[in-house]
Amino acid sequence: MTAHWRGTLDDLRENLSTESFQTWLEPVQCGGFRDEKLELRIPNRFYADWIRTHYLDLLLDSLRRRSGQPSLDIVWAVDEALAESMAKREKPAGPSIPPPKVTPPPPPPVQRESTNLNPKYHFDTFVVGPSNQLAHAASTAAANNPGERYNPLFIYGGVGLGKTHLVNAVGHRVLHNRPSARILYVSAERFTNEFIWALQNHRIDEFRTRYRTQCDVLLMDDIQFLASREQTQEEFFHTFNALYHSDRQIVVSSDVYPQQIGKMEERLISRFQWGMVADIQAPELDTRVAIVRKKAEQEGIELVDDVAHFLAQTVKSNVRELEGTLLRLAVKAELLKRPIDLDFARETLRATIPPPESVATVDDIQRAVCEHFNVRMSDMKSHRRHRSIAHPRMVAMYLCRQRLKTSYTELGDRFGGKDHTTVLSAVRKIESRLEADDMDLQATVEAIERRLGR
Ligand code: ADP
Ligand code: MG
Repeated sequence: MTAHWRGTLDDLRENLSTESFQTWLEPVQCGGFRDEKLELRIPNRFYADWIRTHYLDLLLDSLRRRSGQPSLDIVWAVDEALAESMAKREKPAGPSIPPPKVTPPPPPPVQRESTNLNPKYHFDTFVVGPSNQLAHAASTAAANNPGERYNPLFIYGGVGLGKTHLVNAVGHRVLHNRPSARILYVSAERFTNEFIWALQNHRIDEFRTRYRTQCDVLLMDDIQFLASREQTQEEFFHTFNALYHSDRQIVVSSDVYPQQIGKMEERLISRFQWGMVADIQAPELDTRVAIVRKKAEQEGIELVDDVAHFLAQTVKSNVRELEGTLLRLAVKAELLKRPIDLDFARETLRATIPPPESVATVDDIQRAVCEHFNVRMSDMKSHRRHRSIAHPRMVAMYLCRQRLKTSYTELGDRFGGKDHTTVLSAVRKIESRLEADDMDLQATVEAIERRLGR
């Protein structure tokens, strides 16, 4: 199991930013394995919460695949010794003051509900502001009258702005109003994987029954994943029709506007627009302050006003980042047994937040492009010439050159040993297409820049 766990860590390292990986996964240790349950030891309860909310799917997929145990599960164990050894490594600053008051909430169930909904994402934990008002109103309307006016509901917006939260909240609300409702929450990626698996294992009838017949509300997250996946799009198209024509609610989320999803069938795009299309923008300061307060309250973290303001002012890119920063602060305060005051917050954030003038690295850009196009890092560096790979690679080269001014030769190296002329011509090609007002390409570049957080 230890070996499988190490492999899983490698998979996660590939998929997460270095900072997230180091903060949340590196400290986790693999414990015993019994009755298909793997014990993971963590320094304090915040880790279980954060990992469960953000990385559980990835983690379980990888562990199950590597161990060949499809129903393997995780149990968490807080290990004080881990916390102590981490606290020793952190430089304690200042005299020790009484620890912050942290009231642990009751431990949430390890397993998600059978519906797959994230137990944390309800409407009452969602802070409404001008940036997300429309999406919120449309979501509540769809949830209160499923299958009626706002069907389908299409929510789009940048990374970490609350799409998944809202989509889940719809599910919870419907379930609250009608406990017998059959809610299916699924990411487009999981839908794709299940579909392929069903095809390969001759279980397609079961798959279809599950999605077309045994489902009252379909919540499909991150539909942009279906870009260029023709066969899955076709399957989804028929799923959509079956549900729609029997008045069942469909909610779809995407990180771009329907027309901007590259390589998406026209007939699907037009269906997405039959109901309601609502966007979520980055929240403005007041909303960010309200969000930090809400999160602190939810996590049992005592947060004074000036720290809430400081956090909201410092972390602007997206809500996930904001939440992550708050949690990191709480973890550190608990380890060092210090209260979270403004000095402590300043000190901590100085170390973790890059100064505003710093730019992303080649790695960051490559990763952002991979995420955007759903290609692998290894493809980025391969010599494959298929358009689905070559195009993202060219865009990444262009962004690296434009933002970092890295030399063509070095870029060649960083993209798996390509000649500098290859890089040069890729950059030129993208430049000339942008100059010729290629709207799709412009939208793509903008979406990736948003992902890079500036
Ligand atoms: P997305 O799916 O758009 O990438 P998520 O829904 O995963 O973003 O949101 C990222 C995190 O930020 C989640 O933990 C979510 O609860 C939180 N979040 C985003 N918007 C809000 C909001 N308006 N109020 C409270 N929490 C929010
Ligand atoms: Mg999401």
